[in-house]
Amino acid sequence: MEYVCICTFTPSPVPMPDPLPLHLATPLIESMRLSKAAGRPVWLKLEALQPTGSFKLRGIGLACAEYRRRGATRFVSSSGGNAGIAVAWAGRKLGVPVTVVVPLTTSEGARALIREQGAELLVEGASWQEANDLAQSLLGAGGVLIHPFDDPLLWQGHASLIDEIASVHRKPGAVVLSVGGGGLLAGVVEGLRGNGWHDVPVIAVETEGASSLAASLAAGQRVVLPAITSIATSLGARQVCEQALRLAGEHPVHSVVVSDREAIEACLRFVEDHRLVVEPACGAALAVAYRDAADTPAAHAGDDLLVVVCGGATAGIGQLQAWQATVT
Ligand SMILES: *Cc1c(COP(=O)(O)O)cnc(C)c1O
Repeated sequence: MEYVCICTFTPSPVPMPDPLPLHLATPLIESMRLSKAAGRPVWLKLEALQPTGSFKLRGIGLACAEYRRRGATRFVSSSGGNAGIAVAWAGRKLGVPVTVVVPLTTSEGARALIREQGAELLVEGASWQEANDLAQSLLGAGGVLIHPFDDPLLWQGHASLIDEIASVHRKPGAVVLSVGGGGLLAGVVEGLRGNGWHDVPVIAVETEGASSLAASLAAGQRVVLPAITSIATSLGARQVCEQALRLAGEHPVHSVVVSDREAIEACLRFVEDHRLVVEPACGAALAVAYRDAADTPAAHAGDDLLVVVCGGATAGIGQLQAWQATVT
């Protein structure tokens, strides 16, 4: 038997945009299990499937590409978490050297993920502050410090997540997402506005001990938490960015705080339901969907919930189980 391949290739008259996005368009799936738990349709935007394991690549990929266009010759990051991993990935793809400075507390697993991308990894100080001070001092002439959440380019990149949903015309009843420094929140609200979805509320979830947005909303101004005590380290910004708090005042944003225990249990349940391992930072958002609909703010009965499954690459199943043993 003979196969004939008929290829019709029409070159596009439109020049390709430069540079190509570094992130993937992720699947949007309906979850039977979470819908059952929530008592209404739950859709999942699977950012955990980004090549770096979290949504961060959207904003950081766009920012790094733009900074290279503007002449950056080195990217520097002081995040030992998913932001540092995304900067390392973006630098490798764009051919720009990357230095990531992390504090001693950064896990060996996260350090390995950064090194494996070919980034230079420096370990400095007991806390992020010291690592960040060193990172600042390394910038030199063409170096750019890539902020993990407070940069309009990041928000623009994160907004693409909503554009993908709008492109399939699936307007959600509410969006559920996690908040650390508020970059994801800022990007999602920007995306909702950009698509004319001003009326879609956002349920902004944090864990106890990392709830800088909830504290700021309660105080009516930005609050600096004295310390981060949650195990959801990816939500561990002591202060949210100004833009996040501003948008929470302009757009319908409902703040929810869950316990570490709820976040971890949601992660483990999600492994059973969807065979995906995510960090407690992401489990926080999932926990809201696993709660009964009656406990969910902004919930019009029957409205779809869209959960941003933000992912996270710094904790494996063994770590989740070890944490579970400490919180129960
Ligand atoms: C960074 C991160 C967050 C929080 O995002 P912010 O933009 O800082 O609010 C949540 N989940 C995961 C997995 C992250 O990596």
